Amino acid sequence: MTRSLTLLTALGLCLTTARAQTTLDYSLSFSHYMHHEAVVDLTVHQAPAGPLTFRMSRSSPGRYATHEFGKNVYDISAKDASGNPLQIRQVDGDVYELPQHGSTVTVEYTLFGDRTDGTYVGIDRTHAHLNMPGTILWLAGQDKAPIKITFQAPEGLHWAVATQLVPTADPFVFTAPGLQYLMDCPTELSDFRMANFEETNTDGKKLTFRVSLHADISDDTWKTLVDNVRKVVEEEKKVFGEYASYDYGTYTFILDANAWASGDGMEHRNSTCITLPMGKVTGDDMPRILDVVAHEFFHSWNVKRIRPKAIEPFNFTKSDMCDELWVAEGFTQYYGNLLLTRAGFKTKEEEVSLLGNYLNAFLQSPGSRFFTPIESSRRAVFTDAGVSIDKNNFANTFLSYYVYGANIACILDLHLRKDYNKTLDDFMKALWIHYGKVARWYDVQDLETTLAGLTTADYARAFFANYVYGIHHDDWQPYFAAIGVQVSNDQQGKAGWGNVTYATDDSGHVAIGRGCVRGTALYAAGLDAGDAILSLDGTPVRSAHDISTFLSTAAIGKTVQVGFSNRGISGTLPVTLEERQEYEAKIAAGFEAQQQAWLGAQ
Ligand SMILES: [Zn+2]
Repeated sequence: MTRSLTLLTALGLCLTTARAQTTLDYSLSFSHYMHHEAVVDLTVHQAPAGPLTFRMSRSSPGRYATHEFGKNVYDISAKDASGNPLQIRQVDGDVYELPQHGSTVTVEYTLFGDRTDGTYVGIDRTHAHLNMPGTILWLAGQDKAPIKITFQAPEGLHWAVATQLVPTADPFVFTAPGLQYLMDCPTELSDFRMANFEETNTDGKKLTFRVSLHADISDDTWKTLVDNVRKVVEEEKKVFGEYASYDYGTYTFILDANAWASGDGMEHRNSTCITLPMGKVTGDDMPRILDVVAHEFFHSWNVKRIRPKAIEPFNFTKSDMCDELWVAEGFTQYYGNLLLTRAGFKTKEEEVSLLGNYLNAFLQSPGSRFFTPIESSRRAVFTDAGVSIDKNNFANTFLSYYVYGANIACILDLHLRKDYNKTLDDFMKALWIHYGKVARWYDVQDLETTLAGLTTADYARAFFANYVYGIHHDDWQPYFAAIGVQVSNDQQGKAGWGNVTYATDDSGHVAIGRGCVRGTALYAAGLDAGDAILSLDGTPVRSAHDISTFLSTAAIGKTVQVGFSNRGISGTLPVTLEERQEYEAKIAAGFEAQQQAWLGAQ
C-alpha cells in the first residue's frame, strides 16, 4: 500500500512537471468605437485537457453588488490554431463551454459598453475606458496563468494607453501575472495628458506617480491639478508613515472628465479610476476633483491592502459581502475630507460643517438608529449600484456605510484624542503595520484587538459593543465639546412630524414623499409615503405650503387629526407633534491647539 502510493505520487509529480503552463493572450480592437463596441480575442495556449469553461464576471472589486457584465457580450465564436471553427455553447447567462479542443484555442466576442465610470465599459469616438471585469471573458480554473494583453488602437485617433498593467517594449502590449492582477487594472485608451512625479518612500525606494487626464483643460490648470494631486499624496503618507509598496514601483491616477461621464471613483492596488461629469475643467472644479483623489488614494492603504478577509481573493462570480465596509469605506470617507483640510484645500469651518451633516444623518437615520454598521456593510451587496425595478425599504433599513463609518471614525478619533492622548492616525498606522503591510487580511475582531493595543481591552470591548455590534451611540456630545465643536439643533423649539418631503398624487392631492421613516411622528401614527394628506384638524389641505404654515404655529406635543387617503382607503389618524431636529456643527473659539493638531498641517 505504502509503496504503490509512493509510486503514484512520484508519477503524479512527474506528470505535473511535464505539463506545459497554460498562458492567455488577449487582443482588443476598437474599429466599431462609434457603435460603442470592441472585439475581444482570447487565445489560450497549452489549454488544459477536458471541456473549457469561459465566463464573464458578475461583480467587480470595490463595487459590491452584482452587475451581470455578460449582458453586453455577443457574437461569440471559437476556433482552433488553424482557424477551423470549434463548437462553443452558452450554458448560463455569463458562462460558455467549449467541449472539444486542441492545445490552442481562440475565443472571440463582441463587447458593448457605453458608460464611463469605475465599474463598466465606455467606448466612443473619444476613448475606450475599460474596467476589466466588464471587459474580459476569462478561463475558469486558470487564475494563475500568465496573461498578455494587446490593444489595437484605431488609426488616426492618437490614443495611448494609461494602465497599471505591466508594460513591455511595445506601448500597446502589456502583461499581468494572473487574473486577479488583470482585473485590478482599469485601462484608458485616449488622447490624454500624462504627468509624472517621483516620491521617495520611507525605506528609500523611489516611487513614480503618474497622473493621466482625458479632458479639455488649459496647460495652467493641468499643472495646478498635478501639483495639487502631489500635495494630497504627500499629506496622506503622513497618516501611515509610508507609501504602500506598489507592485511595479508605480501608481497611476486615471482621470476622465467629460460631460457624458458618470461621477465615480474606483480604488485599485496600484491605480485609481476617477470619472467626473464636467465640461472643460477649470480651477473651480479643483475641489470636486481633489475630493475624489483624496478618497481613492487613501484606499491604496485602506481596503486594497488593509483588506477585509471576506473579500480576498475577490470572487467574480457573485456579489462579495463583508462586515467591514464601515471601516474600508467609512474611515476612508472621514480621512478624504480631513486630509484635504490638513493639506489646506478646505477650511476647518468647512470640514466641521461637513462632519455636522454626517452627524445629523447618523443621529436621525433609521439605518443607524436601528441597525449596526456591520448590517449596513452587508447591505452593500444590494445598495452599491445594485439595480432592480421593485421598490425597497432602504430609507428605513440603511444608512450608507460611508456616512455611518465616517461618524464612527470621527467619534473614535475624538475619544482617542480626549481620553488616551492618541489619534485615529495611530489606529490606522497600527492596522497598516499589523495587517496591510504584511498582507494579513482582517476581520472585525482584529479591529477590536488593534484598538485594545492602543487603549485598554475594556475600552475597546465597550466601544465595539456600543458602536459596532450595537447601536448605542449617544456619548458623542462631550467629545465634540472637548475639541471645540459646538453641535446644536437648528430647529430647536419648532414643532414637526419628521423631515418629510411632499409630492402631488394622481388626484392632485398633497402626498407624503420621502422622510416618513421609523422614529418620526408621522410614521409612528401609521402614515407612510404616498398617503395623501387631505386635512389637518378638519381644515382641508390644498398645498404643501398649507402644511408648513400649520406646523409653524403648532406646539410641540400637540395632537393633530390628520385626514388621509391612499389606494382607495381613507380615514383620520392622530399625530402627536415633536420637536424638529436638524443638527449642525460649528467651530468654537478657545480650542486652537487641539483643532490644529486635528485639522491643521501635520
Ligand atoms: Zn471608497
